[in-house]
Amino acid sequence: MEKVVIREEGCKGCGLCVAVCPQRIIMLAELPNTLGYRPAMVLDQDRCTSCSRCAIMCPDLVIEVHRPVRASIV
Ligand code: SF4
Ligand code: SF4
Repeated sequence: MEKVVIREEGCKGCGLCVAVCPQRIIMLAELPNTLGYRPAMVLDQDRCTSCSRCAIMCPDLVIEVHRPVRASIV
């Protein structure tokens, strides 16, 4: 599963997630969604640290962040 999932059709292209990402891996797509806004997209999932800043910042709650599960050492 991808670390960051953005529900593009609910995005209003405000760019807050772009500004807050410390890894600079979020940008606005060229093509608009059905609402007429350029939705946010993640350029490089491998560089995402799952910090969740983008999800916390999003006013429309369209971003989900998943953290990789670590194997426990017993
Ligand atoms: S979880 Fe953090 S590193 Fe990953 S895309 Fe969002 S703000 Fe950027
Ligand atoms: S903060 Fe939310 S609504 Fe704004 S561009 Fe990012 S995903 Fe879209």
